Amino acid sequence: MLWAVALPGLVALLTSAAHHVELVGDGASLWWAALANAVILAFSTRLGASEAAGRNRAAAIDAGGSVAPVAPNVPLHRDGTTGQHGAIRADITENQRLEQALRASELRYRASIESLPQLVWKCQADGRCYYLGPQWVAYTGIPEQAQLGYGWFEQLHPDDRRRARDAWSEGAPRGDAYDIEFRIRRHDGAYRWFKTRAAPIRDAEGRIVKWLGTNTDIQDLRDAQDRLSSINRELEARVEARTHDLIQARDALAFANAQLAAAQRIAHVGSWALDVPTGAVTWSDELFRIAGLSRRAGGPTLEERSAMLDADGRSQIDHAVERAIVAKEPYELKLELLRPDGTRRWVIARGEAMDGTDGKVNRVLGTAQDVTDLERATQELERALERVRLAADAAALGIWDWNIRDDVLVWDETMYLLYGRDSREFSGGYEAWRTAVHPDDIAQAEAVIGRALRGECEFDTVFRIVRPDAEVRHIRAVAHKHVDASGRVQRMVGLNLDITAQRSAELASKANEDLLSEFVRHAPAAIAMLDTEMRYLRVSERWLTDYRLGERDLLRESHYSVFPNLPESWKQAHLRVLAGAVERSGDEAFTRADGSVDWLQWEARPWRRADGSIGGLLFFTQVITARKEMELRLQQQKVELQRSNTELEQFAYIASHDLQEPLRAVTACGQLLQGKFAKEPRDPERDQLVELMVDGGSRMHLLIADLLAYSRVGTGERCFSLVDSGEVLARARDQLQRAIAEAGAVIDAAPLPKLMADSIQLIQLFQNLLGNAIKYRGAEPPRIRVEARATAGGWEFSVNDNGIGIEPEFFERIFVIFQRLHTRREYPGTGIGLAICQKIVERHDGRIWVESVVGRGSNFCFWLPERGPRT
Ligand code: ADP
Repeated sequence: MLWAVALPGLVALLTSAAHHVELVGDGASLWWAALANAVILAFSTRLGASEAAGRNRAAAIDAGGSVAPVAPNVPLHRDGTTGQHGAIRADITENQRLEQALRASELRYRASIESLPQLVWKCQADGRCYYLGPQWVAYTGIPEQAQLGYGWFEQLHPDDRRRARDAWSEGAPRGDAYDIEFRIRRHDGAYRWFKTRAAPIRDAEGRIVKWLGTNTDIQDLRDAQDRLSSINRELEARVEARTHDLIQARDALAFANAQLAAAQRIAHVGSWALDVPTGAVTWSDELFRIAGLSRRAGGPTLEERSAMLDADGRSQIDHAVERAIVAKEPYELKLELLRPDGTRRWVIARGEAMDGTDGKVNRVLGTAQDVTDLERATQELERALERVRLAADAAALGIWDWNIRDDVLVWDETMYLLYGRDSREFSGGYEAWRTAVHPDDIAQAEAVIGRALRGECEFDTVFRIVRPDAEVRHIRAVAHKHVDASGRVQRMVGLNLDITAQRSAELASKANEDLLSEFVRHAPAAIAMLDTEMRYLRVSERWLTDYRLGERDLLRESHYSVFPNLPESWKQAHLRVLAGAVERSGDEAFTRADGSVDWLQWEARPWRRADGSIGGLLFFTQVITARKEMELRLQQQKVELQRSNTELEQFAYIASHDLQEPLRAVTACGQLLQGKFAKEPRDPERDQLVELMVDGGSRMHLLIADLLAYSRVGTGERCFSLVDSGEVLARARDQLQRAIAEAGAVIDAAPLPKLMADSIQLIQLFQNLLGNAIKYRGAEPPRIRVEARATAGGWEFSVNDNGIGIEPEFFERIFVIFQRLHTRREYPGTGIGLAICQKIVERHDGRIWVESVVGRGSNFCFWLPERGPRT
């Protein structure tokens, strides 16, 4: 019965112990601990069961471990010394059998107890120990007797004693199972942990009569537990660390994802992935943004994808992805995306296939970088470069790039054209350039380069080059320097401009300037060139002398400070000239600072710059004081002369008029005497004298008549009217009728004009010319032709004859009064006729001249101005 009861617990404990052994690997001690506990439990249960069975039997386990049947309600003395054997002999045989069985059981029990590895003990209800098992004695190395009572307590670790005592005093009175762990000193002084369990043994009334306890060495268990705890802690630490790592990894992943998204956004790079086996496509947020599509999981729809690219773009990307999968070739494409809103974006699409674990391609990863801004900037840059290139070409600008460190000088095509070199022959470099520069300019050009490299100046210089065909050209070179962090010039990029034409123009301009300056300086006139502020720019030497300015340098001096007394009207005229007018003065009196007066004539006109704007004014002046004085003198002389002429003419007129009378008397007397002597006998001497008197009188009369005619031409008012020159000619012919008839002359006249003239004088003019043409005839009868032709501002008349003609040396002289080419015997005359003609023509503001060939005839011409409407 006892074992039957105990067995399940024991089995359970064994099972538990076995399980425990597996865990801690120290099976023996724990197995025994489990066994001991099972035994104690079994005893406790057996006692409880006996009581429950009717209290008809009691068995006590004394100090020696014997079990004796006891009467109900008889307490067992636990120390074994004072116990009594109250026996009820109902069936002695049965009792003896039972007793033997019990004894045998007790022996087995005792043997079991003592074979337990636990330290077994027993004590009384008050805690005094009355039994310590041999294990206890062996463990502590102290005899049992020395430890009974409370002696065993000394073996407890000092630190555990109080706790052990408190647990006892708290639990023991209530009969609670005593279950505590404390350390017990071993015989070698080492303390080991024991688990102490004690169960109360009660009498029939339930009073505690004894305690049975075991101490199980759990040091190894605790060590194992400690190790386990340590392992646990380590595991926990590891788990914690791993968890921490995982959290960190998760955070890092989230951070990395966020960073990736931000990086994609910042870099305008979207990404996508194609799962090859399923064909599923995933786009990043940025790629949706670049394509102008709304964000979502996965990729674009088929419609979106086909609308996004043109046929060419789709074909390119499809082909590239296929090559990436099939041939594992990475690709890079530039594509133009059309967004749903109609805008376009340029992207660089790159992609690469990824292998799966089986070594086959299972994914394609790609990126699309939005390079629209770059593309636009590049296109703009290309356009700008094109414009620069066009401008450079148009301006014949050569571009060069000099890498100073490596001495590599790169020229563009225009440079080679400028220098007349062939790019295949001319290797470039500084030394090569040097050979092309004019020897006289190399030092100056290199000095500028040196200063530019030292950062002392910008590179901007002019030098000449000598082309292979010996042509010299002027080059202007400018450059931009590229400086490294230390301030050294690493590179220069510059331009060469052919300024030969410009230089030639400058030189020509300079030569013109110099010429102009020389011209002005030495001009035999007073010339000054002023700016708009009326400051002198150039003056002629004559200006200085005319205005008595000596050697004074007038450059930049104000005209008004040089001549402070200029009339206000002149200053106003200067302003008008600066506004574009041309001003001229008459003869102006100008009072100098010293009070002297000069006469001036001036002209001022603006001069203009190349752009047409007025740059200032030019003065051309003449100091006409001397001329003016001369004119005044002349005027006075003229007046005097006119007066004397008038007087003379008056005198001539009066004299010739007054001479007529006595002359007529003399002539009349001579003629009377001739008549009287004609009736008398001839006296040759007397008759010759009278004839001389009459002839002289006649000639004198003619002479006086001509002189009167001559003086009359210059006197009196001019009386001009519209005259028909044809009629005038007819009148003259009438006057000459007799002479014409006598000579058999033929006068032929072309139609003649009407003009404003003095008709009387004009008749005389024609009469004199026709008369001479008849008088100075040759062998043939005179043939006279009169014509007139219109010329600029007047009429030219001609009277042409076929007479004896005149030697050219006398063409001028014959118009002078009294000048004759023939004797009176050859041709009668006074030598006044042509002088009268000249005076008449001059009175009409015309002129007269003759053309003639001796022996062939003469052509007397006169020109008269037209004073009215031509008819
Ligand atoms: P006069 O006829 O009285 O000598 P004029 O003054 O008329 O004086 O002429 C001056 C001179 O000019 C003449 O003496 C003559 O020698 C010459 N002369 C004038 N008319 C002609 C003419 N038609 N043919 C040739 N000689 C002429």
